[in-house]
Amino acid sequence: MLSNRKLLLKLNEISVHNLRRKHKPDHWSVVRKKVQPVDKALDHFDEFYGPIFGKKWSEIRAGLLSKQKYVAVVNNYGNAPETCEHLELKGALNVRKLFQLEKDYIEERYSKSKRLRNLLRIWQMDRSTEIDSENGSLDSQKDEKVQSFSIAESLKVAALDKDRIFDARETKSSELLLEFVPATEIKGNEDYIPEFSYNYCDENSDMTVRIEREFDIHFPENLNVYSYGVENDEPFDSPLRDQTDVYNYYLMDGGSIFPVLALDLRPNNTFLDMCAAPGGKSLTALQTLYPSVITSNDISKSRVDRIYNVYRQFLFDFDEKFLRNGRIIISRRDGRDISDAGFDRILVDVPCTTDRHSLKENDNNIFKPSRIKERLRLPELQSDLLYNALQLVKEGGIVVYSTCSLSPIQNDGVVHMTLKRIWEENKKEIVVKDLSPALLMARCLFKLASPKMMKYGHLVLPTRAQSFGPTYFCKLQRIK
Ligand code: SAM
Repeated sequence: MLSNRKLLLKLNEISVHNLRRKHKPDHWSVVRKKVQPVDKALDHFDEFYGPIFGKKWSEIRAGLLSKQKYVAVVNNYGNAPETCEHLELKGALNVRKLFQLEKDYIEERYSKSKRLRNLLRIWQMDRSTEIDSENGSLDSQKDEKVQSFSIAESLKVAALDKDRIFDARETKSSELLLEFVPATEIKGNEDYIPEFSYNYCDENSDMTVRIEREFDIHFPENLNVYSYGVENDEPFDSPLRDQTDVYNYYLMDGGSIFPVLALDLRPNNTFLDMCAAPGGKSLTALQTLYPSVITSNDISKSRVDRIYNVYRQFLFDFDEKFLRNGRIIISRRDGRDISDAGFDRILVDVPCTTDRHSLKENDNNIFKPSRIKERLRLPELQSDLLYNALQLVKEGGIVVYSTCSLSPIQNDGVVHMTLKRIWEENKKEIVVKDLSPALLMARCLFKLASPKMMKYGHLVLPTRAQSFGPTYFCKLQRIK
């Protein structure tokens, strides 16, 4: 027999237990106790990215958690001049024009710094000649050389011409400007990528990768992209329908323009967007008016439906004018199994940990315990997709690999693993295009990771002032 006191305690326990069970799963006390996928994602990023980005991590983290910044891609299949005017009246900046201004500015500064360096060289030669002369060792030939340089005169002019003096502090990109020198590099077995659960780094491998610097990014004349300036996080109004019922612009993360620009699309290119849904980058590529055929592919039925929707919202009479005549092809295939080769350009915008989304939405979050295996297998899938794209692109054609993750494994790690596989097979020759010099002009609007941090590609970093990205992109060209 239980004493009264024990009975009371037992009843109390039962009632507390029942009370707890009464709470619905969305009750605050239940929600508070449960570790949500967004929390898991943040813990993972702190643990993984903290040591990689060091002191910069807190700013990148704040950027990731802040409101995502969009750009507006003008629909050329609607009333484009009116849309541009409307966006400009709202205070948005045309990104192509902004990049061009920044590029002119950098070039001007660079040529001034080059002039100064030449003058310095002359001055040094002059000094050494004078010293030689004082020592009585000047031969007649040297004397002639000194005459022809007219060093003293040059120096007088230089002293007066303040315009020739290059102040590295005047440009944000001074450190990079000094590296603004054409070069072809061979990178080899020193490769090291910070690893977490994967180990792609093979320090004993004698693999070599050809990396070529590029000094320009072609921004197609017809591609009009608008953004608000740095530290202006004003959102764009929702797009409007015009007289033909198509939307006037498409809103997407500003970082997403880079994979499309890196494709270096040219008139009459055939273009495969291997993982295309919902279709933002396919639509942006179409807005260049260059591709003769765009194939927008995705593996998922529901997401392929979203591609149809996007095209129908932006292209008048889409089925008749684009689908039926084969200008746009929408397919539902596993990108690893696509076998029709010969594309001029391929975008491999792979499924990834979608870092920003993983910190915001619990639904369908890749950090859910039920998706652990899928998450851990992402790099393999990403590499297989990239590998197939490099098989399908034609000789001289370009493949761009991209993610919306900060993970060095999913980014440079996947590129490394895929290049290694191709190198071992020794059938194709791939060159990595280092766009760092060309991307100097983008630094007026975007925060890009230092090239020193990157092996192959480029990374748009989110910050509070410029909350674009993350977007990783790597441009690869098939040579043979
Ligand atoms: N490029 C898109 C855009 O800009 O609108 C976003 C692409 S999203 C990052 C990745 C896409 O890859 C998802 O739509 C997903 O369904 C698709 N995907 C996943 N596995 C795939 C596979 N094996 N083959 C093709 N697509 C795949």
